[in-house]
Amino acid sequence: MSLQHITLISFGYFDNDFLIRVSEKIQQQLFVKIHIKEGHLDLSDYYDPARRQYNANLLLKQIENNFAVESSKTIGLFNVDIFIPIFTYIFGQAYLRGRTGIVSIFRLSNERYGIDSDENLLLERSCKEIIHELGHCLGLIHCHTSDCVMRSGTYVEDIDQKGSKFCPKCRNEIAL
Ligand SMILES: [Zn+2]
Ligand SMILES: [Zn+2]
Repeated sequence: MSLQHITLISFGYFDNDFLIRVSEKIQQQLFVKIHIKEGHLDLSDYYDPARRQYNANLLLKQIENNFAVESSKTIGLFNVDIFIPIFTYIFGQAYLRGRTGIVSIFRLSNERYGIDSDENLLLERSCKEIIHELGHCLGLIHCHTSDCVMRSGTYVEDIDQKGSKFCPKCRNEIAL
C-alpha cells in the first residue's frame, strides 16, 4: 500500500495538545506519519439555515478540491454539526478509494449529551472516526466484525463499542 503519510487539517478552534495526541495515537495505529495543519474556511458558506447544520458533502468537496494532494490522504477535522441529506447528522464522511475525508468532533464529546467531559474518551472517539474515514479512503467498506473500526455507527455509543483497529480481514485488504 502506498500510504506514505496523512495530513490532518483542522478547521475552527482545536486545542493544539489535543491535535498532537490524536495524531500520535493514529500514527501508532497505522504506522504512518501524520502532518498537522491548520486550515481556514468561512464555514458560513456551508451552513444550512433550515437544518442549522453544516453540509458535509460540500465540505468534503471543498477539502478535496482545495486542500488534498495526490501523495497523501487528507482528513479535514471540524467541530461543527455536519449532515448529509439522508441522515440527521454524521460523524464523518470520505471518498471511497479516494484521498479525502472529513470528521467532526461536534457530537463526540460527552458534554453534547449532558455528561461530564472526558478528554480521553473524546480523544479515543476522534481517533476511531478518523481511522474509520481513512479506511474508506483506502477502499474499505463497512464491516460487521463487532470490534472492527470499520463497523458503522449511528450513535456515539456505537463508537465506544467498537475498537480503534482494523479487523484481520480489513487489515488484509489494505495490507497495512
Ligand atoms: Zn463509514
Ligand atoms: Zn473489519
